[in-house]
Amino acid sequence: MTEQTERTSGGTGAGPGGVVVVGAGLAGVQTAVALREQGWTGPVTLLGAEPHQPYDRPPLSKAVLLGKAEDSAFDVDFEALGITLRLGTEVTGLRAAEHLLDTGAGPVPYEVLVLATGAEPLTLPGTEGVPGVHLLRTLDDAARLRPVLATAPAVVVVGAGWIGAEFATAAREAGRAVTVVEAADRVLAGALPAEATEPMARWYAEAGARLLTGAKVARVEEGRVLLADGRELPADAVVVGIGARPATGWLAGTGVERGPDGSVTADAHLRTSLPGVYAVGDCASFPSARYGTRLLVHHWDNALQGPRTVAANIVAGGPERAYDPVPYFWSEQFGRFVQYAGHHGGADTLIRRGDPAGPSWSVCWLKEGALVAVLAVGRPRDLAQGRKLIETGAALDPAGVADPGTPLKSATLRPAP
Ligand code: FAD
Repeated sequence: MTEQTERTSGGTGAGPGGVVVVGAGLAGVQTAVALREQGWTGPVTLLGAEPHQPYDRPPLSKAVLLGKAEDSAFDVDFEALGITLRLGTEVTGLRAAEHLLDTGAGPVPYEVLVLATGAEPLTLPGTEGVPGVHLLRTLDDAARLRPVLATAPAVVVVGAGWIGAEFATAAREAGRAVTVVEAADRVLAGALPAEATEPMARWYAEAGARLLTGAKVARVEEGRVLLADGRELPADAVVVGIGARPATGWLAGTGVERGPDGSVTADAHLRTSLPGVYAVGDCASFPSARYGTRLLVHHWDNALQGPRTVAANIVAGGPERAYDPVPYFWSEQFGRFVQYAGHHGGADTLIRRGDPAGPSWSVCWLKEGALVAVLAVGRPRDLAQGRKLIETGAALDPAGVADPGTPLKSATLRPAP
């Protein structure tokens, strides 16, 4: 992408429309808050399609789903921060030449625009309108699923990814009979290599959930799921967790470049192909110099960190700061705390730490002797130390890495170049 001229003046943020952020999820809210924290004094408007006070999503498959927490609204005083929050406002179009957004309530002008529309869950074809079929992305989805957890005798979860595993965990905790149906031959096939996920299939069985891998859904009808191999599963409720796609359909024809995965293809400063328009969070991919590839990260930490970069660049009025994080996420499933940092694509060596049949173990991925990713199950120190080692690029001693008794930080061979 060529260098672009920003329209922002920088510093004070003076301008007719100020900064308008589309999407009031974590990335949108954090962008608005970070702008204030970093000294932007001009107008900041946050437009969100959902009617609810902005909220956090991870609790939706955990405490909120189980009724242990009522909601997960962010603790942010928008009024005190001078942030104009417009909820129930879906943005349907962008007229870049006029610096206008289209909404059901009329056009909204902007001087600088931040796209933070997140992702939307993929649906299972043919299931729209079938009673008892659910997704799990929004607070409303979680509210609909709570009574299911309380009453449905048999639940079928389609997809053994992060959401499927967390929902299955909650459903077993609530005493439901759970069958998880996965089209791939193993769990988390889209996220992690087989060597890392192999121990995880057992977690389902230990929790009393039935896991069917290599099982394709042929049809979902009220009360049952029919598999392609002819098997029939009783299902008082069906929860579909087969992935999510950037919520960027509304940008078609606007001049904002998107990739084949639907993500807004931001540059290293999280700028889009249009001047003065940034993109952050689940809706945006960015080029990672660290990993030499473009990354689309659908995890919480990315929606927390990216906004600080966007705000810094808006306040500076140009490309002040590049975004090149070590991606991080966690998942709570089947009584385990699973954490991952880095990006294992391109790694040449995989080293296990500890017994994968036990309660705590890790997997480390190295490239040319340096740690590039770590998966930690019940070993938060490995994660914390590994994350720092990935950041510094220090070379590691494979024998030290393989010994779970040696702290990862003590397994360095030589400092980073
Ligand atoms: P979103 O949270 O999707 O927010 C985008 C907002 O934009 C939405 O409110 C949407 O309604 C709004 N919007 C979309 N289009 C428009 C439009 N045209 N106009 C106006 N508004 C619009 N990550 C982890 O690392 N660990 C976890 O344990 C974990 N658990 C999760 C559990 C669940 C159930 C879910 C769904 C996600 C979980 N995640 C987890 C992922 C994490 O929550 C997301 O990465 C994060 O929410 C992304 O934030 P975002 O602001 O980019 O997108």
